[in-house]
Amino acid sequence: MALRGKITHCIFDMDGLLLDTEVFYTVAQDKVFEDFKECGYQERKQELKGMMMGRKSQDAARLVLRELGLEDEMTPDEFLERRAKILRGLLPQAKLLPGALRLLEHLRDSGVPCALATSSNRPHFLLKTQNHAELFSSCFSHQLCGDDVVNGKPHPEIFLKARDAFGEPKPAGSEACLVFEDSPLGIQGAVAGGFRSVHVPDREMAAVVGEPEKPADQTLRSLEEFRPEEWGLPPFKES
Ligand SMILES: [Mg+2]
Repeated sequence: MALRGKITHCIFDMDGLLLDTEVFYTVAQDKVFEDFKECGYQERKQELKGMMMGRKSQDAARLVLRELGLEDEMTPDEFLERRAKILRGLLPQAKLLPGALRLLEHLRDSGVPCALATSSNRPHFLLKTQNHAELFSSCFSHQLCGDDVVNGKPHPEIFLKARDAFGEPKPAGSEACLVFEDSPLGIQGAVAGGFRSVHVPDREMAAVVGEPEKPADQTLRSLEEFRPEEWGLPPFKES
């Protein structure tokens, strides 16, 4: 087996990678645009979702309103507030995606330092992890949200901040950190920051969001396929 790299630290995206949350955004967004039947939202739903994925909420809101010609109807803040009202009831139902629990617990129990780097804003992050709070706090030494950075993905800022916030032993550099992402924008950010990366594309969205500009080091169908030893990380114990 060829070693893909010598990884000492891991950085995880959250939405669509660890937690199945994208579906809630679709449901909430559908409801917001129900009152604007003429804007063409229904016809372009998947395409718009692809454009918004992985972006900071303000950027995504501005983009979707501009695309639909609704800038005079709602400000990005109003859109986000309407959507948030609906989301508040849905997000705490977020479930872990296949392979996430096993991998996170394995890395934690093997002493591999891990951080979370999510574009999600802090209030939404808290709702989504409400039923997984213990797992997240025990697995991640620090959890960065969209509000902790100036530049959203595909800018590498959130990954660089996550890298620099690790305690001792610190990673030797970006190339010692493995970034897990489902969105092409996230992979773009990881590559721009000099990180090694694993892309686990959302199956439904893959067709609309396309490929990252520069490919990740590895692409997997699910986190279940990840083999830590390929990256110099401790292997799973056979069960
Ligand atoms: Mg994601």
